[in-house]
Amino acid sequence: MNLIIMGLPGAGKGTQAERIVDTYNIPHISTGDMFREAMANGTELGKQAKAYMDEGSLVPDEVTNGIVKERLAQADTEKGFLLDGFPRTIEQAYALEEILNDLGKQLDTVINIHVEEDVLVDRLAGRFMCKDCGATYHKVNHPPKVEGTCDRCGGHNFYQREDDKPETVKNRLKVNVAASAPILEFYNEKNLLQTLDGNREIEDVFVDVKKIIDNL
Ligand SMILES: [Zn+2]
Repeated sequence: MNLIIMGLPGAGKGTQAERIVDTYNIPHISTGDMFREAMANGTELGKQAKAYMDEGSLVPDEVTNGIVKERLAQADTEKGFLLDGFPRTIEQAYALEEILNDLGKQLDTVINIHVEEDVLVDRLAGRFMCKDCGATYHKVNHPPKVEGTCDRCGGHNFYQREDDKPETVKNRLKVNVAASAPILEFYNEKNLLQTLDGNREIEDVFVDVKKIIDNL
C-alpha cells in the first residue's frame, strides 16, 4: 500500500501517521527524516542539500525530488510506504508522479485529515507560559488549576511566544492552505483523495483511516 498523508499543522496528522506505520508495518517517510538520512549517509544529494541548508537557503526542488526518489527506491518500501510532508507544492506532486512511474510504483490513496482552520487556531494558539518559572500551559488542554496563577511557582505573569500567538498561527495556516489546495485538487481529480474529519477523538479518526486502508 502506497500512501500519502496530508493535514494542516495541528490536525493530528503525525499521530495518525504513527498509528498507520505501527499497524501496517510500512516505513514512515517524512521529509525531515529523509533529509537527515541522506545527509548522514553522505549521498551526493545529501551533500547538496546540506550545502543549501548551511547557507540558509531553500533546498531546490530537484534536490528534494532526488532525495525522495532515492528513498522510495529502497527495499523497505516494497510492501508500501507512508509519505508525510511530501509533496508540499503542486510541482512536487507532479514530480512524485514521475518518480513513482520511474520506479514502477503507484499511489493507492491520499488520506487528508481535515480540521477547520478556526479549530486549529484554538489548538495551536492556546499555548502560553509562566514568565517567572517557564511552566507551559494551554488554555483548553492544560490551564492552570487556579486561573491566572501558575501551578508551579504561584506567579501571575504569563506570556505567549510569537509562534503561539493567534495572528502568527493564522498566517502559518493560511500559507499551508494555499499550498495544499492545488495538491488536494490534483489528487481529487485522480480519485485518490480521501478526506476525514479530524476534529474527533484520535481513536475514532483512526477507525476511519483503517477502513480506508483495509479497503484498498
Ligand atoms: Zn511559574
